[in-house]
Amino acid sequence: MNLLHFSIPPAVRLGLVVSVLAFLLRIAPLPEFWVTLANYIGLYGLVALGLVLLTGVAGMTSFGQAAFVGLGAYASAYLSTVWGVSPWIGLLAGIAITVVAAYCLGWITLGLSGHFLPLCTIAWGISLFYLFGNLDYLGKFDGITGIPSIVFLGMDLSQGRDNFVLIWLFVIWSCVALHHLLNSRSGRVLKALKGGVLMAESCGVATMEYKLLAFILAAVLAALSGWLYAHLQRAVNPTAFNLTAGIGYLIMAVVGGVGYLGGAVVGAIVITLLNNWLQNILPALLGQSGNYEVIVSGILLIALLQKSPKGIWYWVDVNLSPPLLRLCNILRPPGVKKPLQGSGPALNSLSINAGSKGLSANTANTVNTKLPPRPRAQRGQVVLKVKEVCKSFGGLKAVNAVGFEVKASQIVGLIGPNGAGKSTLFNLISGVLPLSSGSIEFLGHAVQTLPARMRARLGMGRSFQHVRLMGQMSVLDNVLIGAHTRAHSTWLGAIFRFNQAEELALREIGQECLRLVGLQDVAQQLADTLSLGQQRLLEIARALASDPILLLLDEPAAGLRHFEKQELQRTLKYLSAECGISVLIVEHDMDFVMGLVDELVVMEFGNPIAHGSPAQVRDNPLVIEAYLGGID
Ligand code: ADP
Ligand code: MG
Repeated sequence: MNLLHFSIPPAVRLGLVVSVLAFLLRIAPLPEFWVTLANYIGLYGLVALGLVLLTGVAGMTSFGQAAFVGLGAYASAYLSTVWGVSPWIGLLAGIAITVVAAYCLGWITLGLSGHFLPLCTIAWGISLFYLFGNLDYLGKFDGITGIPSIVFLGMDLSQGRDNFVLIWLFVIWSCVALHHLLNSRSGRVLKALKGGVLMAESCGVATMEYKLLAFILAAVLAALSGWLYAHLQRAVNPTAFNLTAGIGYLIMAVVGGVGYLGGAVVGAIVITLLNNWLQNILPALLGQSGNYEVIVSGILLIALLQKSPKGIWYWVDVNLSPPLLRLCNILRPPGVKKPLQGSGPALNSLSINAGSKGLSANTANTVNTKLPPRPRAQRGQVVLKVKEVCKSFGGLKAVNAVGFEVKASQIVGLIGPNGAGKSTLFNLISGVLPLSSGSIEFLGHAVQTLPARMRARLGMGRSFQHVRLMGQMSVLDNVLIGAHTRAHSTWLGAIFRFNQAEELALREIGQECLRLVGLQDVAQQLADTLSLGQQRLLEIARALASDPILLLLDEPAAGLRHFEKQELQRTLKYLSAECGISVLIVEHDMDFVMGLVDELVVMEFGNPIAHGSPAQVRDNPLVIEAYLGGID
C-alpha cells in the first residue's frame, strides 16, 4: 500500500487524538475537577452521537433521549444493587430493555411525519420520567443509591480518573463504529431517510426498518451513557433524565453540528464548558440571586447558531479545512498532491459512451460485474401487462382504462400532452400510487397490490420526472442506493468492516452504471453540483444499478442538449438490444421518441387514444387532433 495515499477517516483521527489525550490525562496530575468535566463531556457526547445519527443523518428529531439514558442507568442500578449482579450484566440488561422499548416506541411513532414525531418524543420523554419517579422499587423520586463501581480489566473504577478511560474508549469506539456504518450500504440508506424515502422505497429499500435501526442505535448509545453515569455517580434519580436534559442533548448536537460525528463531541465540550464557565462568572457579576446562566447561555446559543446554523464542526470544516489542506499539499513531497475538494473535472463536458468505446466486454448482457445478475426475461416474453388501469383523484379521472404490454427487450413510448396522465400511470405501475381499478402484471406476478419496494425487488427500476436525488451525497453513492437490494451485508457487519469485499463489488457496479450514462468523471462530486440534464442521467444510472428487467423512465431527455439526447438514445437501444432490458419511456421530444421506440401508447385526458408502431401512431388522426388541436 502506498502510505502517502492512505488517508485516515476523520472519526478515526478524532479517536486517535482522544486516545492520546486520555492516556496523558490518566498519567497527568490534572485536577480532579477537570477529569470530572471530561467525564461528563464523554457521557453527553455519547448521547449526542446517537442524535447525530437519528436527527442529523436520518432526519428524525427527538427530545426524549434522556429517557433512554434513564433506562440504561436504572436497569443496571437496580440489578446491581438489588440482585447484586455485575454492572456488565446490568449493561446487557439495560441495552436489552432499551432495544425493546425503542422498538415498541419507534414502531408506534416513526410512521408519523412533520412535527408529530418530535411531539411524540416529548410525550414519551415525560412519561418515562414520571415512571422512574413513581415506581416504588426504583426508589421513587429519591432514586437508587449505593450503586457499585465497574470492574474493568481487573481494575475497580471507583475514581473519576479511572472511569475517564472507559468512558472515552466508548466514545471513540462509537465514533469509529458510526463512521464505518455511515460509509456502508446501510449508511447510504440511513442518509437517504432525510428527504429520500420515496426514492429509496422505489429502489427496493424497506425504509421503516432503517428508521427503526437509527432510532434503536441512538437509544442504545443513550443507554450506554446512562449505564456509565450510574456507575460513575454511584446514585441515580429521575431528575437527570427529565425533558430538560433531553432538550439539552439535542442542543449539544445542534450546536456542535448535528450532521457530523465530530459535531457531537464538540457540542458536548462547548455546552459543558459554557455552562460551567457561566455558573462561575455570572454570580460574581450579577449576584447570587437568580439563574442568569440559563438566560445568558440561551442568548449565546442563538448568536452562535445565527453565525453557523449547521454547527461549529461545519464552520470549522468550511473555514479551516481548505487552508489546512493547502498546508498539507505544500508539506507533501512533489507528485503526491491531493486536489482540493470541489476542483474536479469540468462539469460541462458531458458525453455518453454507449455504442462507442465506453462499453467493455463485461457489460454485455448484464450491467453487473461481481454480484450475481438477475435472471433475464426470455426474448418475446411479456414483461409488463397493464390491464384496464384506472386512477381517480377525487372527481378527476387521471388514468382511465389504459392497457398495453411491454415485452422483453422492447422499448415502448408513452406520449400525450401535458396532464394526460403519463406520470400518474408510471406511479401506478411502479407502486408509488395505489390503483383505483384494473390490474398490473409484472413477469407473470399480479403486482397491483404490492408496495413500490417489492416491485423494485422484482426488477422494476425507475427514474422520476422531478429528479429525486440525495444532493449532499456523492454521485456514486446516489447510484449505489439503486444497487442496495443486490448486496446483503448488514449494519452490524459494516460496523466491524466485514462488508469490504461487497462494497468493492458494489462500487464497481456503480462505476459501470455511471460509465453507461457518461458520468464516470463526476462520480465523487456531490449530486447537487450536477446540471439538471446530468441529474436525469444519474437517475437512469441509479435505476440501472438495480440490474432491472424493466426500466421506467419519465422524461429522461428533458434538459439534455441535442447530442446528449442522441447519446442517450444510443445507450437505451444498447440496453434493450444487448442487455435484454425492457424500457417504458415518457418523453415529449418527438424526434427522440420516434427514433427510439418499438411501440407507442398515446394518452389524452387520462384516456388511451392510440397504440401501435411509431409510423401508425404518427398518421393516426386522433393523435394529430390531440397534439395539434385540430389545426390542419
Ligand atoms: P402528465 O405526466 O401526463 O403530464 P400527470 O400524470 O402528472 O400528467 O397528471 C395527470 C392529471 O392528474 C393532471 O390533471 C394532474 O393535475 C392530476 N394529478 C396528478 N397527480 C395528482 C395528485 N397526486 N392529486 C391530484 N391530482 C393529481
Ligand atoms: Mg408527467
